[in-house]
Amino acid sequence: MVRASWLILLAILLFEVVASAQTSAPGAASVPPNQTAVTHPFDIQAAVDAYLAKMPPARRAASDAYFEGGYWLQLWDFLCTVFVLWLLLRFRWSARMRNLAERLTRFRPLQTALYWIQFIVVVSVVTFPLTVYEGYFREHKYGLLNQTFGPWMRDQVVALLATLVLGIILVVPLFGVVRRLGKNWWVWGAGLMVVFLMFLSLIEPVYLAPLFNKYKKLEDARVRDPILSMARANGIPATDVYEFDASRQSNRISANVSGFANTLRISLNDNLLNRCTLPEIEPVMGHEMGHYVLNHEYKGLVEMGVVIVIGFAFLNWGINLALARWGLAWNVRGIADVAVLPLAVIVLSVFFFVITPVTNTITRTMEYEADMFGLNVSRQPDGKANVDLMLGEYRKLDPGPVEEFIFYDHPSGRTRITAAMRWKAEHPESANADEMARPLFDSK
Ligand SMILES: [Zn+2]
Repeated sequence: MVRASWLILLAILLFEVVASAQTSAPGAASVPPNQTAVTHPFDIQAAVDAYLAKMPPARRAASDAYFEGGYWLQLWDFLCTVFVLWLLLRFRWSARMRNLAERLTRFRPLQTALYWIQFIVVVSVVTFPLTVYEGYFREHKYGLLNQTFGPWMRDQVVALLATLVLGIILVVPLFGVVRRLGKNWWVWGAGLMVVFLMFLSLIEPVYLAPLFNKYKKLEDARVRDPILSMARANGIPATDVYEFDASRQSNRISANVSGFANTLRISLNDNLLNRCTLPEIEPVMGHEMGHYVLNHEYKGLVEMGVVIVIGFAFLNWGINLALARWGLAWNVRGIADVAVLPLAVIVLSVFFFVITPVTNTITRTMEYEADMFGLNVSRQPDGKANVDLMLGEYRKLDPGPVEEFIFYDHPSGRTRITAAMRWKAEHPESANADEMARPLFDSK
């Protein structure tokens, strides 16, 4: 789901490290052709098509429209953000917010914090129409939101407050680094950013996620025991699995790995528990265990670290270029002046917008690996195919290869179901007739 646009800055910064979570894996068009057709009578492509046909055409059309509309929203979000931030510079509102902060206190870190609060509130208010269209009306239009306006707005306000606090924790030391280290600030700034991401990961399951959903230990032994058995078999020292009430927001099924070091945990949502059978839940949890066993969180941090270093070098270059030209007109004194923040966010937005296919491919690749792991530990290719179809309620099932490469942070339904059926072709004993026949889309 698209987050509130006043979370754009943090969303850009936090990125997929935390989100390496969701129920899936990458891989794009990397599925090799059916090389086993000679030795096995099982026709992989026919099996994939049979699964895709389980989603009624009207549902399929709605899902395609929702997801393809999302491509355009990415563009509008980007343009809208850049425009609003440019207004803050052009009309010197940014300089005015800095002046106010300087009048209120002489203590530099506090000035930065006071500026950040004004900045986030102003940007949130100005972009609110787009936020409410994207996050509320559009989600309702596609039947993907269960909340009325009151509870939805409550979540937005809570997220705003969290952004205020977390932003201060990031931005105050970042400007401290810029002031002290001068033109080499960006190397250390990128390092600080990576440390911040680790910190965010660490506190996320304990302090952030519970702001929006209730988490509790999964008690249902029929589900919990097979999951813990899979965990033990794969060397995961877990004694608990967590469930959370995602139905508060929507009917989407999902699970995730969250946390860092000693807060690391696997959680599944109540929609998955309520809508899915055990042969469907098992490959999802196996997928999440794959993220854990394959150390995706740490690999993702290293890969995003490289991206962030390049991004900060670009940021340094872009800021200096723009300030040389418009710094006086905007009344921004230099790179160490907190009033430069709108410009910094513009430059970073451009960078992350352009490299979207790169960051998507980083996560999509790990998601695909986690899918393989999940299939191997659960041995439920038919259950997996059903779950992949249900994820198709909000992610276009059958994109072209270029489309998947550019826009998908998880593999498409077709890619994932193809992988499941390929696995099944090599393990004919795993066929599950009940799962193959199970209708998935009769409720709505
Ligand atoms: Zn995943």
